Amino acid sequence: MNLDSIGDWTRTHYTSQVKPENDGQEVTLFGWVQDVRDLGGIRFIILQDREGTIQITIPKKRVQPEVLAKSDILQKRFSFAVKGNVKKTNMTPRGIEVIPNAFKILNVATEQLPIDITGKTPALIEARLDARPLDLTQERNLATFKVQHTALEAIRSFLFGKDFLEVHTPRLIASATEGGAELFTVDYFGQKAYLAQSPQLYKEELTLSFEKVFEVGPFFRAEESHTRRHLSEFTSVDIEAAFTSATDVMGLLEQVIHHACTVVKEKCASEMSVLGYKFEVPQIPFKRLTYDQVLDDLKKQDVSIPWGEDIPTEAFRVLGKLYPFFYFITDWPTHAKAFYIKPREDKPELCEGFDLMWHYIELVSGGTRIAQKDQLIQRLQEKGLNPESFKCHLQAYDYGMPPHAGWGLGLERLTMILTGNKNIREVTLYPRDRVRLTP
Ligand code: ATP
Ligand code: MG
Repeated sequence: MNLDSIGDWTRTHYTSQVKPENDGQEVTLFGWVQDVRDLGGIRFIILQDREGTIQITIPKKRVQPEVLAKSDILQKRFSFAVKGNVKKTNMTPRGIEVIPNAFKILNVATEQLPIDITGKTPALIEARLDARPLDLTQERNLATFKVQHTALEAIRSFLFGKDFLEVHTPRLIASATEGGAELFTVDYFGQKAYLAQSPQLYKEELTLSFEKVFEVGPFFRAEESHTRRHLSEFTSVDIEAAFTSATDVMGLLEQVIHHACTVVKEKCASEMSVLGYKFEVPQIPFKRLTYDQVLDDLKKQDVSIPWGEDIPTEAFRVLGKLYPFFYFITDWPTHAKAFYIKPREDKPELCEGFDLMWHYIELVSGGTRIAQKDQLIQRLQEKGLNPESFKCHLQAYDYGMPPHAGWGLGLERLTMILTGNKNIREVTLYPRDRVRLTP
């Protein structure tokens, strides 16, 4: 088939920008065929672009023969352009249609689409992920990632407003940040290296120079378990701030989440209606539970956890029923948290680490960090880690490491909360997990 070139055509509107007020006006639209319906004397082509859809109506007897001939060719997912006149109508949900004056066919598509892109027959997630480039053109997915984009934009601008500097730390590292189990190894010119599981140590070091930093980027966990909230490559939003404590960064975190929810609610009304999801902007401050309180609450529900142990997922599910919103868990047993979390001065068996939960899902972990070198070395040893392998990091503690605190938030988990998606793969463009490394 002879394809057309764009030539001197330029888009005048996205579909969503065409309104009943444009009645009579000529517009130029670019996009793809979402659906074609032929009713004999009249043909409807649904044009989709990233902002939505619009109906192109072709009254066969009343359009130019070339226009009709081009429209004969169009099939699902062909990319094309149309120049046409906007017409008010009460026959479409949006109250408008476009009557074409000219088409350009820009590219073709296979006839055998692996999934139904109109969403009328929903496909299983695995089939959709296998055909992810096509799957991402579905309106639900466009809406999901628009929400993610909007939330991240809000978080970034909030942190810029609080004088945080955006940084980029290495993904290729020589030693394990928090012990080795979840690390992927890489052959680095014949030497063993790892993919970073978090920016933890680097962001802490950076408080020595830049004081307040944040980073958004991919990190890697060799997660053996197959759950609906773990990926082997996820996006972390991390902050670290000098001269602060856990209390300060918990306050900041509440504000960040409140702001992101407010902005999404304000800017993503149409995406929320595509997703059929409603959420309330959470009230701050969030509830603060101590680890001991959590154990008590669980005991009352006949779930007993020996003091000092981590809280298993099944217990969190029970807890999430009692607290079906955002809540902090503070005052964890020191040995249940990473080596860099500061033990409480008055009760060293407890630490200044915290988690922010949503229902049963952990969204954020953070805490006050240890700033004294001796104490950090001692904690490394207690955790069975070799201080020698942390030599590069430990040097930062010789140059006046400030007291500091921070947190790391999983962007995909936040997106699940904001879009009502129950599976983290839905909110990841190209998910990586125990069994999936493609597409
Ligand atoms: P979990 O207990 O749920 O496995 P974690 O305590 O191991 O999480 P952290 O190391 O505390 O995770 O990382 C901080 C945040 O990063 C988590 O609260 C979560 O939002 C996100 N996160 C961590 N690991 C993953 C993962 N494998 N997939 C998706 N998000 C993750
Ligand atoms: Mg955690």
